[in-house]
Amino acid sequence: MAQVFNFSSGPAMLPADVLKQAQQELCDWHDLGTSVMEISHRGKAFIEVAEEAEKDFCDLLNIPSNYKVLFCHGGGRGQFSALPLNILGDKTTADYVDAGYWAASAVKEAKKYCTPHVIDAKTTVDGLRAVKPMSEWKLTDGAAYLHYCPNETIDGIAIDETPNFGDEVVVTADFSSTILSRQIDVSRYGVIYAGAQKNIGPAGLTLVIVREDLLGKASVACPSILDYSVLNENDSMFNTPPTFAWYLAGLVFKWLKQKGGVPQMERINQQKAELLYGVIDNSGFYRNDVAKANRSRMNVPFQLADSSLDSLFLEESFAAGLHALKGHRVVGGMRASIYNAMPLEGVQALTDFMRDFERRHG
Ligand code: PMP
Repeated sequence: MAQVFNFSSGPAMLPADVLKQAQQELCDWHDLGTSVMEISHRGKAFIEVAEEAEKDFCDLLNIPSNYKVLFCHGGGRGQFSALPLNILGDKTTADYVDAGYWAASAVKEAKKYCTPHVIDAKTTVDGLRAVKPMSEWKLTDGAAYLHYCPNETIDGIAIDETPNFGDEVVVTADFSSTILSRQIDVSRYGVIYAGAQKNIGPAGLTLVIVREDLLGKASVACPSILDYSVLNENDSMFNTPPTFAWYLAGLVFKWLKQKGGVPQMERINQQKAELLYGVIDNSGFYRNDVAKANRSRMNVPFQLADSSLDSLFLEESFAAGLHALKGHRVVGGMRASIYNAMPLEGVQALTDFMRDFERRHG
């Protein structure tokens, strides 16, 4: 079969080496005569997998020792509830920065637990969509925490600034579509969470990084499986965790380490994004309407000047082995998601196709 590059926004492409290893050991894992999916999460063999994955994840992100990593269920949306349920304490409000679809979805869920104060950070720069700098975010006195989404998967908008609001402000962030793609300073955050299905592994697993001193404040109404303290006390095994996803995430972490870790990923991601935005910007045929400073390096939405060519573009790109380029239904057009597992050659193949399509139809 001809090479396929999968630009899906998530569940997304996984590294080919990882899939091959999983395939090789699927039916007989570690000479046990069984797969890793079929063994107890409480047995020694799986606990070793779990601990090693956690250690590798901590190494990759340089997570300081006063943080706990939780392997959870429920995806990003589960965390939209878990966050207020765990972090509000006796406060009744939290600051929520709105810069796109997912940040707004977090607000909607938070309203079930508190009165979120929404900071509308959307703006325009020279007619292009942009986000107000952090220095212009007006925080509320008495807010339990500040929440924002550093990479809006649908809007293709990124907030790359490092938060610097002082020790009093508990910064929380939805890193679902950008975790492990660039270096971050974990110590600037109280809580970081991310669904696994983009840069970590298969869907079904959600990672939470929480500062130790924020544990123990969950509301009595918080379901135990979302309670950070309960999860922490039980090494993320209060109930049966998604063991196969955890194992696979562990393989992805090893692959990342072997490839040079997050700094090297960041360099390659930068190269991939420059290549793709370059082709878009240098054509009158394709368009991206996000201001340069806020362009996502993970999700690149683009429109064809003549939208009547959209379905032909999708048909021909699919036939050329470039899959899942259809934009999200609320935005339309195209979107190329280029997470860590997408090699530079994939983006090269896409840009070659885009230039050729433009030559033929422009
Ligand atoms: N946050 C972001 C930034 C996302 O991209 C997504 C899913 N695409 C979610 C939250 C929701 O994640 P889940 O489907 O795992 O609940």
